[in-house]
Amino acid sequence: MVMSLPDLSSTPRTALGRHRERGRTERDDLYAVLDAGLICHLGVVVDGAPRVLPTGYGRVDDLLYLHGSSGNSSFMAGAGQEVCVTVTHLDGLVLARSVFNHSMNYRSAVIFGVARLVTDPEEKLLALRTITEHLAPGQWSYARQPSKKELAATSALALPLTEASVKIRDSGASDEPEDYALDIWAGVVPVTSGFGQPEPDSVLRPGIDTPPHIVKRGGLPGLTAGNARHPRP
Ligand SMILES: Cc1cc2nc3c(=O)[nH]c(=O)nc-3n(C[C@H](O)[C@H](O)[C@H](O)COP(=O)(O)OP(=O)(O)OC[C@H]3O[C@@H](n4cnc5c(N)ncnc54)[C@H](O)[C@@H]3O)c2cc1C
Repeated sequence: MVMSLPDLSSTPRTALGRHRERGRTERDDLYAVLDAGLICHLGVVVDGAPRVLPTGYGRVDDLLYLHGSSGNSSFMAGAGQEVCVTVTHLDGLVLARSVFNHSMNYRSAVIFGVARLVTDPEEKLLALRTITEHLAPGQWSYARQPSKKELAATSALALPLTEASVKIRDSGASDEPEDYALDIWAGVVPVTSGFGQPEPDSVLRPGIDTPPHIVKRGGLPGLTAGNARHPRP
C-alpha cells in the first residue's frame, strides 16, 4: 500500500511572501496543478550558475518523473542535486482600472528537492511510461516499445513531492477604492489552450486510422489538460 504524504507544510523556501491567501496547502491542489500540465520547468545549477529547462513530466503518487537525453549535460546536472521544478497554468489576463493593479489568473506549483537518477530498469520503464501516458493516455501500449539502445540514450529523474508550494489566483480585478469611479473598463480576459484535430503523418502507411485514444486526446478543443479545471462556460 502506498502511504500518502501529509498536506503541504511551509518551509523556509516554500513560504509565500506576498499574497499568502493565494497559497494552497492541500496535497490534492498540488496534484491538480501537476496533472493538468504537460510541461514543467526544471531549474538546475550548472557550473555554479542557474539554468532552467522546459521538459515533459509525469506523476506517480508522490513522485514526479522527468526524462531527458543521457547526453544532455544540463538535465544530467540535476542527478543527485538540489533542483527546483515549476508548473504554471495561465488562466486569464486581469485588466484593472490602473496599470499598477494589472495581474494574471493562474495556477502554479513550485517543487524543491534532490532529484534521483533512476537506475533500476523497471523503474526507468515506469518513469518513461508515466511520462508518455501523461502526454497521451493509451500511447505507451500503442507505440513500439523502447529498444535497449533507446533506453540507454534516455535518462529519468525522480523528484519526491515532499517540499512544494501551490499558488492560485482566480478572481477579478482589484483596484484602489478611488479608481472604481473611473470610466475605464476592467475585467478578465480568459486564456485557454486546446488540442487541435490530429494531423496524420505525411508518410503514414495506407489504411491506418487515427486510433480512438488519439481521437479522444485531440478532439476536445477548448478543454485540455491545461484548462480542464476551468472549462469554457
Ligand atoms: C503566470 C504568472 C505570472 C506572474 N506574474 C508576476 C509578475 O509579473 N510580477 C510578480 O511580482 N509576480 C508575478 N507572479 C507571482 C510570482 O510567481 C510570485 O508569487 C510573486 O513574485 C510573489 O512571490 P513571493 O514574495 O510570495 O515569494 P518569493 O519570495 O518569490 O518565493 C518564496 C516561495 O514562495 C513560493 N512561491 C512563490 N510564488 C509562487 C507561485 N507563483 N507558485 C507557487 N509557489 C510560489 C515558492 O516556494 C518560493 O520559493 C506570477 C505568477 C504566475 C504563475
